[in-house]
Amino acid sequence: MDTIYFDNNATTNIAPEVLNEMLPYLREFYGNPSSMHTFGGQLHRKIEEARQKVAKLIGAEPEEIIFTSCGTESDNAAIMSAAESFPNKRHIVTSRVEHPAVLNFCKHLARKGYRVTYIPVTKHGQINMDELLKALDEDTLIVSLMYANNETGVIFPIAEIVDFLKEKGILLHTDAVQAVGKVPIDISKMPVDMLSLSGHKLHAPKGVGALYVRKGTRFHPYIIGGHQEHGRRAGTENVASIAALGKACELAGENLYKEMQYLKGLRDKIENALLKLCPNTIINGDTNNRLPNTTNISFEYVEGEAILLRLNEFGICASSGSACTSGSLEPSHVLRAMGVPATAIHGSIRFSLSRYNTEAEVDKVIEVMPAIIKELRQFSPFGRDKQKTDSLSKN
Ligand code: PLP
Repeated sequence: MDTIYFDNNATTNIAPEVLNEMLPYLREFYGNPSSMHTFGGQLHRKIEEARQKVAKLIGAEPEEIIFTSCGTESDNAAIMSAAESFPNKRHIVTSRVEHPAVLNFCKHLARKGYRVTYIPVTKHGQINMDELLKALDEDTLIVSLMYANNETGVIFPIAEIVDFLKEKGILLHTDAVQAVGKVPIDISKMPVDMLSLSGHKLHAPKGVGALYVRKGTRFHPYIIGGHQEHGRRAGTENVASIAALGKACELAGENLYKEMQYLKGLRDKIENALLKLCPNTIINGDTNNRLPNTTNISFEYVEGEAILLRLNEFGICASSGSACTSGSLEPSHVLRAMGVPATAIHGSIRFSLSRYNTEAEVDKVIEVMPAIIKELRQFSPFGRDKQKTDSLSKN
């Protein structure tokens, strides 16, 4: 059975061009870029070439890019750098729907005495701007807000937010791990101070990421040791993966607008068909400001995990909003923050697409899903009753 992979916000396959780019640095060119000899030292050129490509994708200068090991490290490093750079300020602002890479780091800093404000979101998953404005004070050192949400795809208006933070002299970090390579990002038009990205979300391998730091922004390294990355991130460079990230960014930039159209077409086809074919189905998130590859759909009166298991039998990979932690089904913190009703929160499924998905794969989901939902609702007391009343009201 072929795998149908609709879980690209979790991770992506390595693009063939990207794999080709990295292989020589795993096979023959294994030197250390810090070495004096040519065999190692020549690798510097490759790292700088990759830095240029990453910078180009987001409209930055190459010197503003620091290679890291992942999106999580970039997020932690950005917030920690702000804290170390402005030790007299003790207030951090973020949102309730951030990825754990930001949320749990903020909780960690709260245990160390920082004050953290978690801004609520609207029922469509949009940042509550009034609450954001109210939260800022003299003590605020950084605002960290995601560019696009990993569960719903909702895009925050970072460009608008940056303007009023600049006036107040507050740093803005954006976790753009889900956005880079999926939607256009131009740092020159959106002057955030720091921005995180991650290789494995855009067809580069796992274990490589980058942090953009605007020229002139105070920066304290998070990982301390050697002089690599101009003293901003120690550790022998992961040359193969850095080369891969550069290539992945180049590919994403070349095909961005075409891919956005393609993905939106496939995503909308799934969404429209499932809304029509499966009653009591809700799209979660602001449908006017969303990543083109993501849909988060709640099938009321069913468990997301049960849907995933049934999809898995057809080789279809998706993901649910719930996390099965310590034996209890915790609904997603994102959907909870949006106030998704109890009947829908447990039955949410995220389909996240990539350039490698095909229309035939979309058709397969559309073919199998209605029967799965109908069958699972038979097992749920609420679902069964609901299906009965729905069919009675039709008659
Ligand atoms: N931020 C967001 C929005 C994410 O979706 C993820 C990963 O899912 C991360 C950060 C963490 O990235 P990484 O897996 O590279 O550490």
